[in-house]
Amino acid sequence: MAISLLTAAAALSPGLTMAQSAFDAQFVTYPTYSGDDLELLVDESGTHFRLWSPKAQQAEVNLYDDGHTGKPYATLPMTFDAATGTWSAAVPEKLYGKFYTFRVRQNDKWLDETPGVWAKAVGINGKRAAIIDMAATNPEHWCCDRGPEVKNFSDVIVYEMHHRDMSMSPTSGIANKGKFLALTEHGTTSPEGLATGIDHLKELGVTHVHILPSYDYNSVDEANLPLNQYNWGYDPQNYNAPEGSYSTNPSDPATRVREMKQMVKALHDAGIGVIMDVVYNHTAENDGSNFELTAPGYYHRHWDDGRYSDASGCGNETASDRQQMRDYIINSVKYWADEYHIDGFRFDLMAIHDTETMNEVAAELKKLNPSLFVYGEGWTAGDSPLAIERRALKENVSAMKDIAVFSDDIRDAVKGHYSNAEDRGFATGKPGNEETVKIGIVAATPHPQVNFAKGNNSKFPYAQSPEMIVNYVSCHDDLTLTDKLRKSMPEASDSVRQAAAKLAQTIVFTSQGTPFMFAGEEVFRDKKGVHNSYNSPDSINAIDWTLKARNIDLFNYYKGLTALRKAHPAFRMTSAEQIAKHLVFDKIDSAKQPNLISYSLKDNANGDAWKEIKVIFNGAAEPQSINIPKGDWRIVAIDGKISPDADLGAMQGGKTAIAPYSALILAKLK
Ligand code: CA
Repeated sequence: MAISLLTAAAALSPGLTMAQSAFDAQFVTYPTYSGDDLELLVDESGTHFRLWSPKAQQAEVNLYDDGHTGKPYATLPMTFDAATGTWSAAVPEKLYGKFYTFRVRQNDKWLDETPGVWAKAVGINGKRAAIIDMAATNPEHWCCDRGPEVKNFSDVIVYEMHHRDMSMSPTSGIANKGKFLALTEHGTTSPEGLATGIDHLKELGVTHVHILPSYDYNSVDEANLPLNQYNWGYDPQNYNAPEGSYSTNPSDPATRVREMKQMVKALHDAGIGVIMDVVYNHTAENDGSNFELTAPGYYHRHWDDGRYSDASGCGNETASDRQQMRDYIINSVKYWADEYHIDGFRFDLMAIHDTETMNEVAAELKKLNPSLFVYGEGWTAGDSPLAIERRALKENVSAMKDIAVFSDDIRDAVKGHYSNAEDRGFATGKPGNEETVKIGIVAATPHPQVNFAKGNNSKFPYAQSPEMIVNYVSCHDDLTLTDKLRKSMPEASDSVRQAAAKLAQTIVFTSQGTPFMFAGEEVFRDKKGVHNSYNSPDSINAIDWTLKARNIDLFNYYKGLTALRKAHPAFRMTSAEQIAKHLVFDKIDSAKQPNLISYSLKDNANGDAWKEIKVIFNGAAEPQSINIPKGDWRIVAIDGKISPDADLGAMQGGKTAIAPYSALILAKLK
C-alpha cells in the first residue's frame, strides 16, 4: 500500500520534527518479555498460556470447542509475573483441536476477547486462536525444502502478485482459483494453450514472487467466500497466521497453514523464492485491535493528548521504537522465515519503523539465512511522532546496510508522476527527466557523472550500494503500466504504448539495483483505469490470460529482459565503487537531445563475459541519432526486439539512429 507524495515534503520539513510524545513516555517503563513461549506452548507437560500485559489487573483464558461459535467450555484464571509483565495459566493436557481467547481487565474494565497477538493458527475470521500441531501441517519433504540461494540482492528479480489476480480469471485454467494452491498447479494453460500460473512464472524467468499480504487480514468475510470479496489485505488482524480466504477451508485452522506451505514448496521446487509483504506499521482496527486488547496503549504511537497518531493514513501507527513491539516484529518475521520458509520481506510504509528496528530485523534474518532479502517503502503516508532521523526513510537507507528501498525516482521519472495520470515521463516523450533516470541507472549511488541536484525526487546519492535499491515503474498501487500509458499517451495506439512499455522496463531491468515488476505487465495487463483497486472486484483485478497470446511479442521481450540480466553480471554490480568505475555515461546535451541517454558498462564489468555493453534509450516520439564508437558490436536489443545472446546482427558503430520509444543495446564481445 501507499503513497510517496509525503516522502520528501512531510519527511524532511524541519517544522514537523517532533520528539516522542508525553503520552507515549509512560510505556518506556513497562517490563518486556519476548520468549518464544508467548501466548501458547504445547509440550509433553501440557498446554501453557502466557500473555504479555503488564498493566492488567486480571487476565483469563477462555477455552472453546469451536473456532467461532458457542460458549467457552472452561475459563482459566491467569497469574501475574511482575518481572516479565506476563500472565500465565496451564492445563496438563495437549489441547490440540481446541480454540482459545484471552480477556484482560484494565482500569477496572474487562476488555473484549482477543486471540492475542501471537496466534499462529486461528478459527474462521480470526477471532479465536487455534491449538494445532504445527508439525502435522508440513507438506512431504518439507524438512529438505529450501528457497533459492542469493549471493547478491541485485541478482534477485521480483514479481509482485496478488493471489486472486493470478488465478481468478476463467482464462487461467487453474482449478484452485484465488487460493494458495493455485501456484502448486502445473500444466495449466490459457484458452490458447499458453502456460499460466507457476509454469508461466518459470517461463518468464523471475527469481522471486512477492505475494501481497497473506497473513490473516480483516476485510474479507471468510465465512462467506461465495461473495467473492477482493482485498489487497493491508488491514492486518493476526500477523502470524495465514489469511483464511486463500485456503480451501478457512474453518479448519490447519488447512490454511498447510496450503500456504504447499505453495512455498511448489515455488521452491520451481527454483523461485517467496517474499511476503508485511504490514506491521498499523492495524486494521484501533481500540479493537489485538494489540490494544492485550496491552492497551503500548503497541501504538500517540500524540501528546493521547490520540492515535496516524503515519499510515489508516487510522493508527505502531511503535517499533518500543522494545516489546520491536521484538514482536523481529520474532514475527523470524517465525515466517523458519516455519514457512519465506525468503524475504517487503515492509509496507517502512519509514513508520525506526532504522534500529529494521537493522535488527535484517541482522536476525541474516543469521537464519543470508539469502533473505528485506526491502520496503522508504516513506510514510502521514506525519509521525517518531523523529525524522530515526525513520527508516529512503533518504536514511545508508544507515541500514542490509535493507533496500523502492526508488520512486526511477518510477516517476520513467513513466511520469504517479499522482497525475496524464503526466508523461522519460520513456513517453517528456523532457527534463534525464538526470533522474540516471539516478535510477546508478541505483542512487554517488557517481561522478550524475548531478543529483537535478533529481526530481531526491537531491543526493542516498544509497551507499546498489543492494539498497529496488527499481520499478509500477506496482499494485496506482495505475498499472498499461493504464498509465493509455492515460498519458491518448493519441497513441497500443502498439506504440507497448514500445514505450518495453523501453520503460528495459530501463528497469538494465539498471543497477534489484528490478521489480508487477504481475501481468508482461502480458499488457490493465485494471480498466482503476488506480486504487484495493477492494475492486475480480473483473478489475484479475489478469485475463488471453492477453498472453495476444501480446506474446511483449511477453517474449520480458523473457528476454530476465534472461539478459541473469546472464550478465554487468547489470548486477554489487558496490558503488564498481558502478562509478565501470558505468560511463556518454556526453549528451539534454537541451538539444532530450529523452536520450547512452552509457557503457566497461571492461568486463563485475566479471561479465562481454568486454563492453552499450545501452542507449530513446524516449522521444521521433528517432534520434547518436555517434557510437567504431568497433565490432553485436546487437542485443533493437527497436522492440531483444536477444540475450546478442544475435540480432552486427554493427560497426558510427552515426546510428535509435527508433522512437526504444532501447538499443550493443555488446562488444572482446
Ligand atoms: Ca481474514
